[in-house]
Amino acid sequence: MVTYSYKVKVHYLVLKNKMCSILVTGANRGIGLGLVKHLLSNQAFNVENVFATCRDMGKAKELMELKKNPQLHILEADLIDHGSFFNLASQVSNIVKDKGLNVLINNAGISSKFTRIGLVKSEDLLNHFKVNTIGPIMLTQALLPLLKMASDKNKSATGVNKAVIVNISSILGSITKNDQGGFYPYRTSKTAINVATKSLSVDLKNNGILAVSIHPGWVKTAMGGANAPLEVEQSITGICNFLKNIDQSHNGGFYDFEGKVLPW
Ligand code: NDP
Repeated sequence: MVTYSYKVKVHYLVLKNKMCSILVTGANRGIGLGLVKHLLSNQAFNVENVFATCRDMGKAKELMELKKNPQLHILEADLIDHGSFFNLASQVSNIVKDKGLNVLINNAGISSKFTRIGLVKSEDLLNHFKVNTIGPIMLTQALLPLLKMASDKNKSATGVNKAVIVNISSILGSITKNDQGGFYPYRTSKTAINVATKSLSVDLKNNGILAVSIHPGWVKTAMGGANAPLEVEQSITGICNFLKNIDQSHNGGFYDFEGKVLPW
């Protein structure tokens, strides 16, 4: 007779060994590249496919060097070219087939220098919204059928073994924590993606798809600068450890790279 504890153990092993497909935007440098390297080294997840997007493969030297890894698929995507996202989705679909896409990490982003109200330019505001807000929302829309497919295929699973949308946001998008002012283009575009995370978590709850916003910490990248206290690897390790264990209780929340809840 099969015992209850045996059944639980088998179920656990099946979940633990589930293979997942993950797409990361802005993967040619900084946090995105770090995420791709980490995922491929299989420390965090049991990955079947890692889709790494960049704007120009010809300029993505470090990412292209990883190309020999059979799990890695490098695709081109410019976050301001929203019309190209359905083509991107069909390239992903050709590889994942009916298994779908488990995790979308909207990582690519831009940040201009600190600006007080007198110096804000409408063009700068618009660019930030195109890349940091509209891009991730429209890419999510284009990839939604694949996320739903993964969720349906893995009904008894949760989190990354099922389907998750991760918006890499910033503490600078927190209204509560804004006591320094300025940074209009960056702050407003990140606050807006946070609201989108919340809406996604509500809209997709019945599909079993989770949505979270994550602040990666202040990280040494081209954006974070040399004075940032965190190395890319520290931030990524924290993010992946957190993501590995997320479930329904985290849906629609804003977290730091270690999984600590942040105020909107
Ligand atoms: P980097 O500046 O190092 O990298 C930004 C990435 O975004 C690059 O891959 C870049 O590609 C890509 N990107 C920029 N514009 C576009 C576009 N139009 N289409 C597609 N890709 C684009 O930044 P980080 O790695 O530090 O930042 C990653 C994420 O983390 C961002 O969303 C950022 O806001 C967030 N974050 C970072 C913090 C930090 O301290 N570093 C702090 C808080 C949040 P390309 O090389 O082609 O320009």
